[in-house]
Amino acid sequence: MDSKRLLDMQAATIATHAGSDPERNYGIVNPPVYHASTVLFPTVADLENRTSGPDVIRYGRMGTPTTHAFEKAVAALEGGESAVTLSSGLGAITTTLLTFLKSGDHLLMTDSVYDPTRKFCEGLLTSMGIETSYYDPLIGSEIANLIRPNTRVVFCETPGSLTFEMQDIPAIAEEAHKKNCIVIMDNTWGTPLYYKSFEKGVDVSVHAATKYIVGHSDAMMGIAVAKAPYDMQIRHMAWNLGQCAAPDDCYLALRGLRSMAARLKVHHENMLHIAQWLENREEVSRLFCPALPSDPGHALWKRDFLGACGLFALELAPVRKEAWVAMLDHMELFKMGYSWGGYESLVIPFDAKAIRTATKWAPQGPCLRLHIGLEDVEDLKADLEAGFARLKENA
Ligand SMILES: *Cc1c(COP(=O)(O)O)cnc(C)c1O
Repeated sequence: MDSKRLLDMQAATIATHAGSDPERNYGIVNPPVYHASTVLFPTVADLENRTSGPDVIRYGRMGTPTTHAFEKAVAALEGGESAVTLSSGLGAITTTLLTFLKSGDHLLMTDSVYDPTRKFCEGLLTSMGIETSYYDPLIGSEIANLIRPNTRVVFCETPGSLTFEMQDIPAIAEEAHKKNCIVIMDNTWGTPLYYKSFEKGVDVSVHAATKYIVGHSDAMMGIAVAKAPYDMQIRHMAWNLGQCAAPDDCYLALRGLRSMAARLKVHHENMLHIAQWLENREEVSRLFCPALPSDPGHALWKRDFLGACGLFALELAPVRKEAWVAMLDHMELFKMGYSWGGYESLVIPFDAKAIRTATKWAPQGPCLRLHIGLEDVEDLKADLEAGFARLKENA
């Protein structure tokens, strides 16, 4: 398949075929897993010329054809010049921040950010003399008032993956660009399929590929997709830091990507079904779910997203801890675990109070984050129904 012709096709087709090159490999559909450290050069001229570029094969740490096939596929799907694979989602975030920030710089960070990202800013970035201020995720174009002469990066995450505020990225990006700031977005929730970050003004889109791209809860992987020249700057920082992703995991990520469009459709459908069912339950006082018309972020979600994934949260009506513990401890399908984006349903209790600094998070009751997997929704509802019965018994 000609790669330019492929780019004219629909996203699901691109996800299925981009980066694939069977002719190079005896007609076999998938690329092999190259385990490599040493790469041999036949001549001095070749050794001297093969030095840079997004798909250079020079030394194992700089990637192999398996890595590059995965990177090409994600970049084709999301846009951007090229993509850089990192060993985890957090690795993609930290490598990208280190690429663009130096001592004396200022970073604007959404208050709804993934907590380990916040810890990185408070820890390493602070010790390097890089200052972070947190902003209200709903700030929109008023971000302009917070941009200082030394502000270099505006970091976004929409929706927040715990509290689900929708950010107006085009409005934020417009102001950021007026003042020469780089807009980095954690696009894990949107995925390269449902949030076209570069059309919304994002410069660098980072993903925990660990979630929906890998999709099977069995590999850690990060990817940063970027406009030029940012893409090569991130790649050089990854090389500098000695970051590289394992070849078997790159293979799993590429394999996951091939079925992502089909999986996401079911996650979206199942999630809406369960969220709408929960909306009418007396045990639930509030949902945090931008795909629901009742959510305050719904209009932005509808404007900017092409779909939703399986992740949302809810607030239970106030109840003592023993009650929700009894609910969660005995779930049959909704097992407790961090991460999400695999095929299975998950639940975790959370309290975002302690991790907010710019805005208040003050729910009345305990909060749960749910990931709706690919199970049958009737079985999922039965599991939740039994959970609510335990909640009541222990109230
Ligand atoms: C999980 C997650 C990450 C980190 O990804 P890892 O692969 O676990 O390091 C970053 N951002 C968001 C929104 C996530 O959910």
